[in-house]
Amino acid sequence: MFASMGIALFGGVSEDANDLLKRADMAMHEAKKAGRSTLRIFERTMQAEIEHKAQISTGMRAALRLRQFIPYYQRLVDTHGRTQGAEVLVRWNDPARGIVSPDKFISIAEETGLIVPIGELVLEDVCIQLKAWRASERTRRLSLSVNISSQEIRKKDFVAKVRHLLDVTGGDPSLLVFEITETVLPEDIEEVAAKMKVLRDIGISFALDDFGTGYSSLSYLKKLPIHRIKIDRSFITDVTTNASDLTIVRAMIQMGKLLGLAVVAEGVETESQRILLETLGCDNFQGYLFGRPVAIETFEREIEAR
Ligand code: C2E
Ligand code: CA
Ligand code: CA
Repeated sequence: MFASMGIALFGGVSEDANDLLKRADMAMHEAKKAGRSTLRIFERTMQAEIEHKAQISTGMRAALRLRQFIPYYQRLVDTHGRTQGAEVLVRWNDPARGIVSPDKFISIAEETGLIVPIGELVLEDVCIQLKAWRASERTRRLSLSVNISSQEIRKKDFVAKVRHLLDVTGGDPSLLVFEITETVLPEDIEEVAAKMKVLRDIGISFALDDFGTGYSSLSYLKKLPIHRIKIDRSFITDVTTNASDLTIVRAMIQMGKLLGLAVVAEGVETESQRILLETLGCDNFQGYLFGRPVAIETFEREIEAR
């Protein structure tokens, strides 16, 4: 048995007992978040944080109804610099705040479960895009990688929903890549593996995202039908100057190759990083060196200009 305890101090006779309980409850949630068997004392910042989260979730619910979540596209290139496809990164197009980046809302979307309908919206856009790209020689072979939250995969109807979206949009599953992270993968790995295998059999590929940052990359690689690994940006940033980053990146690439996986480096910002990574055997690159995530109009214009 584990106990999490939240403490709030009584401010005087005029204070409302309900408010006091609410504050103790907020402190208890903080204690739970910090790991079990611990206690937290209520602080004003906790309340501000909770209010901020509530505000963002209300905003996200409205944004879902208004379809204000839009996909941005970031180029993924091969060793010759040719565009292989793109990673789709969601943005919140808020009329009041402008384009809001995912680090402002994805974690709250995960906490509230809103990531499921947001993910569905993104996936639908992606399938429609794949279908539209079939019309042009320049775009018909481009693949699209989508970030899939573990909450989405865990849903009972995930496979059926993906199938349905592919059916109604006419998107080609062999050009679809699902990026999943080891850090958020659930304990029920067997069930997830079974779903992934069904999706693999209809043509979808899987990438293990943020590779190297989790605890159990290797067992995930063994148990899940993964096609490619994406080496996390944190290892790439200093790869040309930091000897241990270099060693880790080299080992990750070699292991990926030995397992027959494609290896993608993310967050490539300089030509010297690219050259080094290519020498080490990396197959694909993504990063500001090749292009930032952009809206579809800009992405297509860039493809045309090449
Ligand atoms: P991620 O999947 O690791 O995506 C890569 C992030 O690195 C993106 O941030 C991208 O803009 C950024 N990036 C790419 N190249 C470079 C570079 O050369 N230098 C630097 N400094 N950064 C680079 P972004 O777009 O802000 O997305 C952040 C995270 O939000 C993503 O990380 C992903 O975990 C999550 N996310 C984005 N879209 C979705 C989505 O549709 N569904 C889900 N579940 N998560 C999403
Ligand atoms: Ca990703
Ligand atoms: Ca990543």
